[in-house]
Amino acid sequence: MPRKPLAPADPAAASDHDWADYLRANGLRATRAAIAVLKALDGADLPRSHEELEAQTAPIDRVTLYRVLDRLVATGLVQRIASSDRVGRYVAVQSQASSYFECTTCNRVMPLPEDPELPQLLGHLRRQLEKQGLESALTVFRVQGTCAACKLRAAGRSPHQTE
Ligand SMILES: [Zn+2]
Repeated sequence: MPRKPLAPADPAAASDHDWADYLRANGLRATRAAIAVLKALDGADLPRSHEELEAQTAPIDRVTLYRVLDRLVATGLVQRIASSDRVGRYVAVQSQASSYFECTTCNRVMPLPEDPELPQLLGHLRRQLEKQGLESALTVFRVQGTCAACKLRAAGRSPHQTE
């Protein structure tokens, strides 16, 4: 299978025209909705839920958004990640949205603390995979657990309570 054409090297500077070329190069129609979704996902630092994308790409309607996401996932430009709340979250395969923490109680998703060793570690893992002949298109590093607020609530000291 031929390698997929790369997304614009500098997504922040990419024009709608660049995204349109990228979509067409991957056999998709370059609709306004598809461009808006790609741009929203590529600029995101965390995986986005359908609801968040809907807010971000308004006034694109829900049905159109579902169709666009289905097509992007089918061509491998976007990956759907199932989380513990069964809400699918989406990441652009080219984007840097690769490490995050997910609270399994409230399902909040937040970035992992900055750690200069993490990209190195992921790079190391990728090279190990390549040695085995496996080419990774997306590495997602997800830590699941309990966030600080849920931990407090579980301990019976709700941070939202006022005395
Ligand atoms: Zn939580």
